[in-house]
Amino acid sequence: MKFIYIFKFFSLAIIFAFHANTCANEQVQIDPQSINISTLSKLDNQIFIDPWLSLQALSKLEPQYTAMPVETKVWWLLRKAQCENLLYFYQEFEQTLSKISPLINAQTSIEQQARYNYFEGLSLQRKGGYQKSREFYKRTMAFAKQENLNHLYIKAKQELAYTYSLAELFEISLKDMQEAYVEAFALNDRFLVAIINETYGAIYGYMLEHEKSLEYYEKALESYESLGYKAHISEAIYGIATTYRYWKKYPLAIEHFKRYQKNVTYTPNENLTYFGAYGLGMTLAEQGECLEALTVIDKAINLTGLDDYDAELYKRKASCLIQLERFDEAEAALTIVENLFLSLPELMGTAWQLETLKIASTLESKRGNYQKGFQLLALYNEKYTELLIKNSSSRAISIRSAMEIERKDIEKALSSQRTKAELLEIKNSEQTSLQQSYFIIFLLTALMIVIVVVTFQFRNNRKMAELSITDSLSGLYNRRYIFQYLNKLIAGTSAQKGHLSILVLDIDDFKSINDNYGHPVGDRVIKTVAELAKSTLRTEDVIGRIGGEEFLCILPRTACETAEKIAQRMKEEISAYVFDIEQGNTFSVTVSIGVSYLSQDANNSKALYSLADQALYRAKDSGKNCVNVL
Ligand code: GH3
Ligand code: MG
Ligand code: MG
Repeated sequence: MKFIYIFKFFSLAIIFAFHANTCANEQVQIDPQSINISTLSKLDNQIFIDPWLSLQALSKLEPQYTAMPVETKVWWLLRKAQCENLLYFYQEFEQTLSKISPLINAQTSIEQQARYNYFEGLSLQRKGGYQKSREFYKRTMAFAKQENLNHLYIKAKQELAYTYSLAELFEISLKDMQEAYVEAFALNDRFLVAIINETYGAIYGYMLEHEKSLEYYEKALESYESLGYKAHISEAIYGIATTYRYWKKYPLAIEHFKRYQKNVTYTPNENLTYFGAYGLGMTLAEQGECLEALTVIDKAINLTGLDDYDAELYKRKASCLIQLERFDEAEAALTIVENLFLSLPELMGTAWQLETLKIASTLESKRGNYQKGFQLLALYNEKYTELLIKNSSSRAISIRSAMEIERKDIEKALSSQRTKAELLEIKNSEQTSLQQSYFIIFLLTALMIVIVVVTFQFRNNRKMAELSITDSLSGLYNRRYIFQYLNKLIAGTSAQKGHLSILVLDIDDFKSINDNYGHPVGDRVIKTVAELAKSTLRTEDVIGRIGGEEFLCILPRTACETAEKIAQRMKEEISAYVFDIEQGNTFSVTVSIGVSYLSQDANNSKALYSLADQALYRAKDSGKNCVNVL
């Protein structure tokens, strides 16, 4: 059981998360010329994914260390320590911490102080200074709370909980674990939930609830795999392997220890090879595969390991040697075990140390020293019974079931809270989209109104413009416009380039029509003559009323002969028209037309009109109802 503890101790000791926000698969390198706090933070996610590569990237920056500002120095050292921790380079980790320590003072940022305290906690925990490490974790939590570093806060709390459980203070431990779990779950953070699940895996392992232990370890492993955090993946696999070993499912334990061995190639640290060989050697020995076990155990013993782990290896080695009847070697192994325990006073009187008595008793019996063997066995039974009474597991079992129920309740409550929040969000977004629809409808309506107003205004303007150039009685252009038009046309038509002719038309003896039939009939005559004149013209010709019964026609690109012909036709058309008035009375009117054309002599509108007017007078003089050209 101790091994789950110690293992868990390692597993949790490696946790230190900066917020992961860089791309998972990208290999980050930092340019030594631009080291600062933000370039260093690019490594944060990579440290979890590949601590070895990250440590190398950080080491490349070492020549710049002395030139770094203090704050950058501390960040660089903190990240280096994090890598070393994940890689099990504990000596280096300790050295890095001792470099950070003198740099921490009142000016140090709260976040750096929080992270530094966390590492100090890990360091002390590793050395067995649980009580002291708790003080550091509590300080970490206080700093983290101040800066809203939720991740660090939860992890420190969880470490704190774990140190309590290492000291068998389960009630406090589980309470803190529970709180850490609730906070991690509320943050919806996969990584935090995973490390807490891993710890639960260890605790259930301790309680010999193998199935539950596996369930939690598997959950943690799944999350670590999806995050790609190599060190954590290996730790979870090791946890699973150890649980199988304690469950006596040896083939599965071996399979997982081998899987672990394959996974730890991310670090060149041979300590990890040691742990792999340790797990495998212990399992093979417990399974009774003694020859194979001895080879693996010897391999582990030759690697640098931990004293308490070595003690376990020597115990299994002794048992195997007894089984193989190599008694002297077994005795030598047991002597080493005894010496190792002497150097581990904390473990004296524990089940792990007591087991030495049992193995020694077997050795004596096998050698035929039954008396001594019996005495040793009696001593073992006596001490072990005492221990069992002391460590009655009934309390732990009741805590476990309470913990499980509480945990389920919390999960349920949190889930429903989350669902509620989601529902609220949906409602909110529906509301927003409804508001948006209303707004769009409003906008469209406003737009339509604007379009209607603008169109109306436009038409109105056009009408106004038309009216301003139209003669209301005849519907033709008015005097102002027709002369304006003539001016423009002449400006664009040089006398040499093109022809331009005009006609000035005057109704003959119009005064007498007014006198004989009245003004309204006179108006009708003006209107009809206007229509008749216009219908005689071509589409490009323009006609306007310039006086009472006087009209001006502009004929662009028209030579004088054509203009005269048009004038003749116009005169005929008008005189052929018969006006009906009441009581079957009819009458006709005649017109006189003066024609002039653009020429060197008449090259402006005034001259041109004047010529046409003269021509008109000539026509009048020569008896009216005729055309005269000038
Ligand atoms: P002439 O053959 O020499 O042109 O003789 P005339 O009677 O047509 O000559 P005059 O130019 O003297 O007469 C034009 C008359 O037209 C005078 C005026 O009362 C009338 N008149 C001008 N404007 C209007 C109008 O808008 N409606 C009507 N009914 N008569 C108008
Ligand atoms: Mg007239
Ligand atoms: Mg007239």
